[in-house]
Amino acid sequence: MRFQETLYSEWGQNFEQGQTLFEAATDHQELVIFENPRFGRVMALDGVIQTTEADEFVYHEMMVHVPMNTHPCPKNVLIIGGGDGGILREVLKHPSVESVTQVEIDRAVVDMCIEYFPKHSNGAFDDPRLNLVIDDGAAFIANNSEQFDVIITDSTDPIGPGEVLFESSFYAGCANALTDNGILVTQNGVPYMQGDEVTNTYRRWKSYFQTRSFYLTPVPTYAGGAMAMGFASKARIEMPSINELTARSNALSLLKYYTPQVHHGAFGLPRFVQDLMID
Ligand code: SAM
Repeated sequence: MRFQETLYSEWGQNFEQGQTLFEAATDHQELVIFENPRFGRVMALDGVIQTTEADEFVYHEMMVHVPMNTHPCPKNVLIIGGGDGGILREVLKHPSVESVTQVEIDRAVVDMCIEYFPKHSNGAFDDPRLNLVIDDGAAFIANNSEQFDVIITDSTDPIGPGEVLFESSFYAGCANALTDNGILVTQNGVPYMQGDEVTNTYRRWKSYFQTRSFYLTPVPTYAGGAMAMGFASKARIEMPSINELTARSNALSLLKYYTPQVHHGAFGLPRFVQDLMID
């Protein structure tokens, strides 16, 4: 049996689908978890690959340690989405973190990932610094009055429940929720296949953020080339030096992808991605 990803009608990746561990329609999306000989356990939502045991470290380390090591002292963090717990696990590695609010729309994703991907959260959902909120991230941010040093939007693609997390109103709410030098990072699609997501985000950010940029990370099971991660702030953010990033990384255990050199290099964008960053 094979799992055919359905993100693109004209092209896509497929996996040998070994044992299916869970498959059901939740209140919000179609959730399937299956075994694959190469990638271990694999999760998909609405036919789109979300995470695998084998390559999750690439995406989660780069979505977290780039903003968290850039901010001088991130204490209060907001995660939107991220139901598998990988982002939360990496955020809690930072000794400066005093509180994390995570807003995930689908309780079933959290429950099934705790059961079938225990190493993703690695106990993070039991951390006393966590406030887990089961809600739509857009609704949460619209009614939010807290301030955060870092906001990480680990969402699905802009289809289904994730669509609202790519709209201007959500970004306006994130700007209001960030401290003056706070940093927003977003899952922003694979530019070679979803270039409009870079352009749309770049344009929608113009009214709210002085710093508007992207960095790239090649995640093996996010098909079609390197993934773009949006990086924004109301402040003008200078990238810390390699030495500074090295010092800030010393407290971070069990890294398998992130290095200060990779951090710097990820912001070196190819011409076709720069050409997508137009107002
Ligand atoms: N790393 C994956 C990627 O790049 O596509 C994302 C993985 S994570 C599982 C995506 C999470 O976003 C899911 O748990 C999903 O339930 C959640 N999500 C989707 N729409 C949401 C919304 N409007 N508010 C909060 N969480 C949402």
